[in-house]
Amino acid sequence: MSAGSFERRLQWARAQDDADPLAALRSAFAIPRGADGRPQLYFCGHSLGLAPLGARALVDAEIEDWERQAVGGHEHARTPWIGYAEELQPALAELAGAQPHEVVAMNSLSVNLHLLLASFYRPGAERRSILIERGAFSSDRHVVAAQIRWHGLDPERELIELAPRALEDVLRTEDIEACIADAGPGLALVLWPGVQYRTGQWFDLERVARAAHAVGAVVGFDLAHAIGNVPLALHAHDADFAAWCSYKYLNAGPGAIGGAFVHERHLRRRDLPRLAGWWGHERASRFEMRPQFEPAPGAAAWAVSNPPIFSAAPLRASLPLFAQAGMGALRRKSVALTAYLASLLTELASDELTIITPAEPAQRGCQLSLRLRAGAQRGAQLIRALSDSAVICDWREPEILRLAPVPLYNRFEDVLRGAWRLCELLRAPC
Ligand SMILES: *Cc1c(COP(=O)(O)O)cnc(C)c1O
Repeated sequence: MSAGSFERRLQWARAQDDADPLAALRSAFAIPRGADGRPQLYFCGHSLGLAPLGARALVDAEIEDWERQAVGGHEHARTPWIGYAEELQPALAELAGAQPHEVVAMNSLSVNLHLLLASFYRPGAERRSILIERGAFSSDRHVVAAQIRWHGLDPERELIELAPRALEDVLRTEDIEACIADAGPGLALVLWPGVQYRTGQWFDLERVARAAHAVGAVVGFDLAHAIGNVPLALHAHDADFAAWCSYKYLNAGPGAIGGAFVHERHLRRRDLPRLAGWWGHERASRFEMRPQFEPAPGAAAWAVSNPPIFSAAPLRASLPLFAQAGMGALRRKSVALTAYLASLLTELASDELTIITPAEPAQRGCQLSLRLRAGAQRGAQLIRALSDSAVICDWREPEILRLAPVPLYNRFEDVLRGAWRLCELLRAPC
């Protein structure tokens, strides 16, 4: 790691940035600054995406409309609040690989999972179990365990958690398929991540859906780490439902309005129970306030309450940036950035760390998850030292460092500087 070789590498990284057709998008984001006043090397977009610079004006506009028009804003705000969530549908559908009427912006992720499971998890005498991956995000596990209990059943019996093979960190698609086939007629529902939060593994959702349907189970996807990160095709891949949050790769800010997908083939079913509220009522007669619920003709029927405008407004700054870039071009840059990060880490620090995220681009998005040989205590120190040098990444217990170069705003130069700093710190005596 001589200075000379860093300089040569820096030249190369800057040349990639100069040739990057998406380079200008970075200037659409607020990049936080470190103590020295220089922009942070921000690799935490998997946890909280950076603020689009356009977000503030859009939130301000809603506050102004509220101040000036009060209740009139429902109909006369610049973006009338009554139709606010619907305005988001086309762009969300594009990212989800869905038709606009199959998606809805509402609530937050865990709440949406509960609402969708209320409709799609209908345990019977035999078909009762739910499959998730072992080590699932805590909230997802809480949600499915709570749903099982809600039906008077026991998660100890009905929750199946599939682990990787011994000495492996990620799951093989054929093992997921075999597990589903094994559970067979007892399996009610599969709740599967698009991209796993801890390992960064991107799953073959089409095969998971096909396997679930082959045994008569319902399949739902948690897209928290997938939407805005990897291309999705929920409709074509035949997902029954999906849900996501918008503050990770969608850059809509802390606690931003979440989203959900329900496949078209379920939208006219009258047999599905639903935890309904007035905002899911068909719009033309919603305000007649009739006692009978008439569902909206789309996933919007699952909306319960009127949408939180201030936590939806930033999405209107972020979503156009995806459209401007094009998911194809974003994905191409993402693959290149992440491969660059992986190659630097492997070359510079393979004695100190292992990349547990799959090496195959079709099995990962932008995030890489690293296991440090030195263990958890050193890892916690390392995260602090990185943060002191304005390199922002995070730590997941017991021993995983996560970092994600995000193609909307990270540069090849960031990747080089971040990887270099990480490797310097790993080698420094502690
Ligand atoms: C980020 C994340 C959540 C967060 O849930 P909220 O309801 O938005 O707080 C849940 N599940 C997964 C898999 C996540 O990655």
